[in-house]
Amino acid sequence: MSRTVAFVGLGHMGAPMATNLVKAGHLVRGHDLVADALDAAARAGVQPARTAAEAVTDAEVVITMLPAGRHVLDLYESVLSAAGPGTLFVDCSTIDVADARTAHERAAAAGMRALDAPVSGGVVGAEAATLTFMAGGEEHEFAEARPLLQAMGKKVVHCGGAGAGQAAKICNNMILGISMIAVSEAFVLGESLGLSHQALYDVASTASGQCWALSVNCPVPGPVPASPANRDYRPGFAASLMAKDLGLAANAVRAGGVQAELGLRAAELYAAYAGRAGTAEDFSGIVRAIRDQSGEKA
Ligand code: NAD
Repeated sequence: MSRTVAFVGLGHMGAPMATNLVKAGHLVRGHDLVADALDAAARAGVQPARTAAEAVTDAEVVITMLPAGRHVLDLYESVLSAAGPGTLFVDCSTIDVADARTAHERAAAAGMRALDAPVSGGVVGAEAATLTFMAGGEEHEFAEARPLLQAMGKKVVHCGGAGAGQAAKICNNMILGISMIAVSEAFVLGESLGLSHQALYDVASTASGQCWALSVNCPVPGPVPASPANRDYRPGFAASLMAKDLGLAANAVRAGGVQAELGLRAAELYAAYAGRAGTAEDFSGIVRAIRDQSGEKA
């Protein structure tokens, strides 16, 4: 069934996601603050809207793909009154769990319906429509959004009520951040012990050290030819995005009084590393920071 969709935030992720909705036969009205982003989306078949309010008028579903929670809450503030009653607001941005719950509440208070549906899979997954969506909200809203999410991704999981999608996203990425640091520390320890990268990989990837950070995104060049380490750590998943997600996880850890020392430490290490590496390096490049700092200590 073809839907009328407003899509706000046509950046690295939003532009290809909106394009995939157009390809699936939906009418997509897009808006972005950056004129070039709007022009590029228009060339891909998105109907450009000069304002977010213009985009959401007459939309059945409003999808947002924005940098952070404050952008989502500000946007909801400015467009909730412009949307028709009962419009479904689906936020695919990665934001604080608390902000996601506030967004649900504000949507409901304005007579709208809401779903949080952050993604993993990066720009490559957004372009290929192979993203994984983690959704939080009521069953009925999930069922309604599902065909749209399936047009942009290959896996769609309903994780629970309001904020559960964001919760799943930051818990997963906390595992990933910690495990990438663990794998990187093991390689640097192996180097200091005269162990080759290949030997450690051959053992750990088939033993109990096996994990995605090792066997898919291996932080040293050689063992996994497609990993970013083989292309001078070009992303992939940028260091700055990992630092952002671990920061969100750390907020939730502190708010919940959770004993998660490794999660908090991983957030600190990635914040320091991303301060230098930014968006230019894959998060697996943290192995170089660990190696450099080990050299200083030797
Ligand atoms: P981006 O900066 O490329 O895109 C965000 C877009 O939102 C920009 O084009 C910006 O101009 C626009 N924008 C900001 N405020 C706006 C407003 N008020 N109205 C209209 N447009 C506005 O970021 P991205 O890489 O596309 O990421 C978007 C979200 O997806 C983030 O929350 C990020 O954490 C998450 N995410 C990104 C990746 C990735 O690999 N890039 C992967 C998973 C999740």
